Amino acid sequence: MAKERGLLSPEDFAQLQKYMEYSNQKVSDVLKLFENEKMAKYLQGDAIGYEGFEQFLKIYLEVDNVPHHLSLALFHSFHTDHCLKENVRKENVVCLSDVSCYFSLLEGGRPEDKLEFTFKLYDTDGNGILDSSEVERIILQMTRVAEYLDWDVSELRPIFQEMMKEIDYDGSGSVSLAEWVRAGATTVPLLVLLGLEMTLKDDGQHMWRPKRFPRPVYCNLCELSIGLGKQGLSCNLCKYTVHDQCAMKALPCEVSTYAKSRKDIGVQSHVWVRGGCESGRCDRCQKKIRTYHSLTGLHCVWCHLEIHDDCLQAVGSECDCGLLRDHILPPSSIYPSVLASEQERKHSKTSQKTTDDSNLCISEALRINPVSNTHPLLVFVNPKSGGKQGLRVLWKFQYILNPRQVINLLKDGPEQGLRFFKDVPDSRILVCGGDGTVGWILEAIDKINLPVVPPVAVLPLGTGNDLARCLRWGGGYEGENLAKILRELEMSTVVYIDRWSLEVIPQQTEEKTDPVPFQIINNYFSIGVDASIAHRFHIMREKYPEKFNSRMKNKLWYFEFATSESIFSTCKKLEESLTVEICGKPLDLSNMSLEGIAVLNIPSMHGGSNLWGDIKRPHGDSCEINQALGTTAKVITDPDILKTCVQDPSDKRLEVVGLEGAIEMGQIYTKLKSAGHRLAKCSEITIHTIKTLPMQIDGEPWIQTPCTIKITHKNQMPMLMGPPPRSSNFFGFFSCPT
Ligand SMILES: [Zn+2]
Ligand SMILES: [Zn+2]
Ligand SMILES: [Zn+2]
Ligand SMILES: [Zn+2]
Repeated sequence: MAKERGLLSPEDFAQLQKYMEYSNQKVSDVLKLFENEKMAKYLQGDAIGYEGFEQFLKIYLEVDNVPHHLSLALFHSFHTDHCLKENVRKENVVCLSDVSCYFSLLEGGRPEDKLEFTFKLYDTDGNGILDSSEVERIILQMTRVAEYLDWDVSELRPIFQEMMKEIDYDGSGSVSLAEWVRAGATTVPLLVLLGLEMTLKDDGQHMWRPKRFPRPVYCNLCELSIGLGKQGLSCNLCKYTVHDQCAMKALPCEVSTYAKSRKDIGVQSHVWVRGGCESGRCDRCQKKIRTYHSLTGLHCVWCHLEIHDDCLQAVGSECDCGLLRDHILPPSSIYPSVLASEQERKHSKTSQKTTDDSNLCISEALRINPVSNTHPLLVFVNPKSGGKQGLRVLWKFQYILNPRQVINLLKDGPEQGLRFFKDVPDSRILVCGGDGTVGWILEAIDKINLPVVPPVAVLPLGTGNDLARCLRWGGGYEGENLAKILRELEMSTVVYIDRWSLEVIPQQTEEKTDPVPFQIINNYFSIGVDASIAHRFHIMREKYPEKFNSRMKNKLWYFEFATSESIFSTCKKLEESLTVEICGKPLDLSNMSLEGIAVLNIPSMHGGSNLWGDIKRPHGDSCEINQALGTTAKVITDPDILKTCVQDPSDKRLEVVGLEGAIEMGQIYTKLKSAGHRLAKCSEITIHTIKTLPMQIDGEPWIQTPCTIKITHKNQMPMLMGPPPRSSNFFGFFSCPT
């Protein structure tokens, strides 16, 4: 009789993963318990019976009553012949080592290890190859997972068979471990197909968000009023709206986020959903849609057209995705990799050989083939940024785009989304968050080694946001229409921003030092009074967040810190505590009385202050101006030439500014004064410090013991610069288009 090993249902598997998510136990800890007498009694050699297995689950999952069907299904899935001593009755036991191995794999680990593990699980006779009957079992399991994911199973079986034949690289008729791992890591998303990696969000589930309604709204399920000002739940995909208590009984969501069958790939059709006609007017006949209990009319979830039921025939079936089509990935452009034609799969095989980054090689479950002449947008949202604004932005983007394009950074991090988009031509990235969030994404892009880096735009959330500010995306989002912002994004231009590596080499010292917050400078770096203010500000904000809740208050606090002399004695006569080398030559600070030194990459600091200062400049772009003025040299220290230098974040140069005192800093931050003292423009900086000093990178302060700091050019990142405001004659900081 065929054993049911490896045939855990995807529902069971999903439930198991939920338990594991909430449990703090590690397999290794549970195994230790089996060395004690209390648990050791369950062991027969390496084997345990059902009772022992239940104990294992109870401790490991930290759940008192694991559902019986789940523990039984799991128990059966571990039934085995190998590893058992002769005298143990085989039917009613499982190997503790198998069980531990399985769970430790689920705890995390490299995909290669997971692949090897699944291979061993399916190689029931343990002969090191998968023969045809074992391959049949794998296909059966894949079909069950596909069924669970709602894919068109009828067309999949032959594809799976073809795929398993392809995996048999040497055509021997059976699959070796090496062949299995190679396929799973390069061309076939085996871990997904086997249900071992549930990265696919399930379609069919509504994406609920709590919502209050400014007008009377009726529950789509029970058709009773939700009540003015009361909270209900509304699906972010289909606008289905219900009472909180009705959500459990709601029908499945009709909206698909990707194509589940070959016939759905390519041309997008309208997806009509009842109700949700908020404009109240039919986009086809322009007449009023009478909203009976807001349940009348139809709206398309992709192009957002709203029509009468009777106008449906006249509209036609093809959906162009509406005004925001340039940004949208319609479901017809996303499909399971297994549905890719053989040609596509072969192509991806050869293209993946050219990259040696193992990160890129784990094959994705879904593939993207965007509508031609569009710029699919990958949106990263930090829902914690800008108070409640972050979460709202996340919801809104999930509604106006395909939710697969919208990544919740705190839930999923940046890598998964970047990998999903890695082969999408002409894509763009939008980061919604503060400068810190932008830095996080840029670093992830550095690490992941993309074949082409998409340009990055910023929707600034919260306060500060110097990078967003100088890219013309403003200092902070204040609830504007996101569709309008996306239209502006279509008119943006690509600029290349310098990024700088910062290396801190501490001297041997007994003193404790803070960790250096970043290794990369995107905006600015400073030592002394400015960093000291930032540090104190940082500590106060952690302690009394309520006092720092608006931009204006922030500014006032900065001023107050800056003018409270006493705390800055450490920074007095800074030039005696450090030396600065620019491009190998010492910078002469002998006639100065400095309390701070700042190194600038962009022309905005602490929410819009400009330490370098504007100069009366001719019209035109920075690059041309600097060329015309002869200010493109690698190192400039001549004060007369410095006077005319214009800042340009893409010229591979940094600006060095001296700060004379706390009061001056306070004045600069509150815009009473415009700039510090220009010391140099250069492409490499080394600083030696001989005492403990406050420092900061991109607004993130720390206290640093004596050290050597080296700042060198790292790379340039393509960023999107917003269109110039129509009202003013703004001239850009950027210029040299690359
Ligand atoms: Zn829905
Ligand atoms: Zn209801
Ligand atoms: Zn449509
Ligand atoms: Zn109509």
